[in-house]
Amino acid sequence: MTADDVRDPLRILYRELDAAVAEAAPVCALSGRCCRFEEYGHTLFLSAPEAALLLADAPPPSRPLDDGQTCPWQDHAGRCTAREARPLGCRVYFCDPAYEGRAPEITERFISRMKALVADRGWPWGYGPLRDHLREAAENGGFRPPPSPAAES
Ligand code: SF4
Repeated sequence: MTADDVRDPLRILYRELDAAVAEAAPVCALSGRCCRFEEYGHTLFLSAPEAALLLADAPPPSRPLDDGQTCPWQDHAGRCTAREARPLGCRVYFCDPAYEGRAPEITERFISRMKALVADRGWPWGYGPLRDHLREAAENGGFRPPPSPAAES
């Protein structure tokens, strides 16, 4: 499975997911908390095909790779620099309390569709935390985050 294999089908699925989320109209206050995982007590999970697309199509990350506390594509103003390639979990997560009741149903519906797509194409599912996907890619040379300040000194 390569990013070229998954790009078009995932883009279609993401487009439909974005439309479902837009219909629920969550408010984004640009707090940036969705991408500061440890600080706000959540973990971003994604499948292997989503990780392949993110790694292939996202711009170079702006932060060093940490132990899963943050996302390396969140810039220093708290914005996502990988919006087009971001995975399902990023697209569906909003911290708007008025949206909390809708998120589980939308998430389940699109995870089910993702699973069906992956099974149909015979792709690996490989569902796991972002940090695990990035560590594996970094070890294989498929991900080159900027060095941490400690590593530079
Ligand atoms: S890919 Fe973008 S939206 Fe997703 S966690 Fe990283 S910075 Fe946030």
